[in-house]
Amino acid sequence: MQPSSGASAPAAQSTSNDIVFACSHCATSFVVDAAAAGLALECQSCGKPTRVPTQSAAVIEANAANAARVSDLQHQLKENASQRTEITGYINQLSIQLHRWQLRLKELNERKAKLDAELGTITGAK
Ligand SMILES: [Zn+2]
Repeated sequence: MQPSSGASAPAAQSTSNDIVFACSHCATSFVVDAAAAGLALECQSCGKPTRVPTQSAAVIEANAANAARVSDLQHQLKENASQRTEITGYINQLSIQLHRWQLRLKELNERKAKLDAELGTITGAK
């Protein structure tokens, strides 16, 4: 492998089969074929052995970002579920209360009709 100089713009030229990584000792970046993934190669810059990652730094970074996003979304879903449960509970309680008031009003209307009828009979009103 060859150290990448700034002029060669390795990242832009690399294909999906290439792995872009930095030496763990001197941070010089290299582009190697994906076949070298996991191998320990001697750094062309500092001469020390450095391990080629199994995925490019960009993929590792993207995976980490995805994992963080997944964790965040799962957290938000959990929060959403607990709030939905809470609101559904309120709606159920109020629905039951509304139903009770409606029944009560119906009873009062029926009672009023009976009272009116009885009053009408006594007073002879039409
Ligand atoms: Zn190095």
